[in-house]
Amino acid sequence: MEKVQDAKRFEHTLGVEYTAASLAMRYEYDLIDAQTAGLLHDCAKCLSDKTQLSICKKHNLSVSAVESRNPFLLHAKTGACLAEKKYGITDQNILNAIRYHTTGRPGMGLLEKIIFLADYIEPGRKHAPNLSEIRKLAFLDLDMALEKVLEDTLGYLKSSGGETDPMTEKTWRYYRKSYQ
Ligand code: FE
Ligand code: FE
Repeated sequence: MEKVQDAKRFEHTLGVEYTAASLAMRYEYDLIDAQTAGLLHDCAKCLSDKTQLSICKKHNLSVSAVESRNPFLLHAKTGACLAEKKYGITDQNILNAIRYHTTGRPGMGLLEKIIFLADYIEPGRKHAPNLSEIRKLAFLDLDMALEKVLEDTLGYLKSSGGETDPMTEKTWRYYRKSYQ
């Protein structure tokens, strides 16, 4: 990863690896798998928009309207593709954890939740609201932490005028419902 990421992204990657391992200890997931998913989750993040789009074209990955307007959203999908084709990952849980690390999805598996949260709470993150609360919550109740992150992400995107991937909203509705 050090070869394909800039210094800042690589530091974030190591933070996600470390945090994913910590959560895997807490929730009894395979540590090596969690670390592998953490290391690879942003493997496509530093590629240009053009490269992202050409990977999608080459491998027949669908590009939604939101994604074509915001190609940085594609790095999860293209990352899962590279993890499989370039880095030789065959474990579907690892591939799904990479594929859904930005939007989540309804009915996520344990590793998907671990990577989604590790990406948000790793030690290098500084600016998200309620970070200390969510960091603590992640080790107490994974689903509750997940719901809080989705809620804050949607709130942030709305207030900053950023465009939301409809999947984020769908995931939030699913996990909010499971608490009502
Ligand atoms: Fe990412
Ligand atoms: Fe990330």
